Amino acid sequence: MKTCLECDEKIVGREDKKFCSDGCRNAYNNKINKDSNNFMRNVNNKLRKNYRILSLLNIDGKSKTTRAKLLSKGFDFDFFTNILHTKTGNTYYFLYDQGYLLLDNDYFMLVKKDI
Ligand SMILES: [Zn+2]
Repeated sequence: MKTCLECDEKIVGREDKKFCSDGCRNAYNNKINKDSNNFMRNVNNKLRKNYRILSLLNIDGKSKTTRAKLLSKGFDFDFFTNILHTKTGNTYYFLYDQGYLLLDNDYFMLVKKDI
């Protein structure tokens, strides 16, 4: 016996029906969209915050900073938009056009991509 994904009521009718009514289908889909939107909003906020921090510390387009300084501003190393592996074996992490490269002793090189 099939039951509605939203309210668990028994479904009558076609075998492939997932919901007992249009109302339940809408409620179910709205919940899914809301959750993914909340998640995406949180990720986007983290990316924006990281980007703001890098922009703030890298006014000249190329500068150096420390892990402690980034962390003190609330930088979250888990969030970035893309990774660039150079032929010389370096790995740059980018937030849009602002990037960083880990140097020795917890120093970071900050760079800005020419677009
Ligand atoms: Zn239902």
